[in-house]
Amino acid sequence: MYFFESNICTGHQRGSIEVICGSMFSGKTEELLRRLKRAKIAKQKVEIFKPCIDTRYSETEVVSHDNNAIISTPVESSQNILLMAGDVDVIGIDEAQFFDSGITDVCNTLAEQGYRVIVAGLDMDFRGNPFGPMPALMAIADDVTKEHAVCVRCGAPAYISHRTVAGEKQVLLGETDKYEPICRCCYSKEKQKGKKD
Ligand code: ZN
Repeated sequence: MYFFESNICTGHQRGSIEVICGSMFSGKTEELLRRLKRAKIAKQKVEIFKPCIDTRYSETEVVSHDNNAIISTPVESSQNILLMAGDVDVIGIDEAQFFDSGITDVCNTLAEQGYRVIVAGLDMDFRGNPFGPMPALMAIADDVTKEHAVCVRCGAPAYISHRTVAGEKQVLLGETDKYEPICRCCYSKEKQKGKKD
């Protein structure tokens, strides 16, 4: 049994941190929503926070790519989550890679206070570098799940969100028009091609 499944009915007695990471289109948000829905069925109060930067779909909802929505609250900084956590049992945090580095302390504090914290975010940026606070969050987590999209070139499990448009900025919001999930092998070929150009 997974750690998080055994922890589902302990409520405020035992806090924990779960991290769900992976590339774009890997189903991270869907997995976050799946766990939160199970907690809701178990009569637990659920709240989702996300950084203000992610306004692709809606200001007040976490919307996954299959339109499986749960209401959420956009916050300016990680500290706001501590202030707004209130009387809930399970705290979901989406797009965690965009939060400031204070998010690790916030998650530890919430877990110590007895909250079950479930964090979803991109593990790497489009160059394959660890993204923002994600490596630190993975280190302090009780449980880490790495999701995989499917490589659009060869069908293998993808590992990176390859950017299909020019630009060096780490943060560039967008969907299929700007990124494609590809595997390590296809990414390596892509890099070789880039060197020749
Ligand atoms: Zn591939």
